[in-house]
Amino acid sequence: MFKIDHDLHNHSGLSLCSADHSFSAKHILDHAAEVGYKMIALTNHTWDGMIPGATPYYQQQGLDHIKKALPLPSHEGIEFLFGCETEYCGGDRLALHPSHYDDFDIIIVPTNHFSGQLGLVCPSELDNANDWMYLQIERLEELLRIDLPYERVGIAHLQWFEADKEHIPSILAHEKRYYNVFKEYANRGAGIELNASAFKYTDPDEREAYEALNPRKKYSQCVSYDKMLWLFSIAKDAGCKFYVGSDSHTSERLDWPEKYLPRIIKDLGLTEKDKFVPCERG
Ligand SMILES: [Zn+2]
Ligand SMILES: [Zn+2]
Repeated sequence: MFKIDHDLHNHSGLSLCSADHSFSAKHILDHAAEVGYKMIALTNHTWDGMIPGATPYYQQQGLDHIKKALPLPSHEGIEFLFGCETEYCGGDRLALHPSHYDDFDIIIVPTNHFSGQLGLVCPSELDNANDWMYLQIERLEELLRIDLPYERVGIAHLQWFEADKEHIPSILAHEKRYYNVFKEYANRGAGIELNASAFKYTDPDEREAYEALNPRKKYSQCVSYDKMLWLFSIAKDAGCKFYVGSDSHTSERLDWPEKYLPRIIKDLGLTEKDKFVPCERG
């Protein structure tokens, strides 16, 4: 059985979108020690100053900013990776310069920050779940053109955006495209993230909370567990390896992997052999 003994997607208060700027690498480590994790990663949002086009939000989150977390605190028996969550904007534009790939033990690449970074990562007129589902597969295909150190790359929070009924058949018709793209990520040794936050609203107990969200927020979340199972099963069949990420920005989400991921881990039939472990740098 695939154990939740790691959490490779965490932000600290250094990420501007954190609601608690006192939340630190030490808090993440203390939680890991408490629950017995073996490997964790700090992956704050960043935009490399060598890449033009940063918005004011990202201008404040250059590499020097996120490196303020170094040196990372340590605890016996826990490997603490220094990573980042960069940004992929389409058109072969990644917000991390190749000369800095080796600054990180793990590079988390989101291909679908469509709701939060509208205008930067996708044209502003593509502002709904249907468009985002069509764009997600394109972006996954495009990203492969970039020569990344894939054995240290995690593909963040793939999602089933809640598309309208009439679009569902044409989205499901992307199965072969997803299979081909996942096969290539598997060949290159990348990890596919099981993001606890992305699975939260697939829990029937969270349905009421989902219904209370504003329409825009709803677009970016997923309630259809069967569709997430569809998507991640394709990745599994294509031979991808998986890792767990809480996507914590404060202490609130640290225990979400245990809360929201056992179901998908069980239904995908994951074992320890399916676990992604990033290669060492260099
Ligand atoms: Zn993200
Ligand atoms: Zn994140």
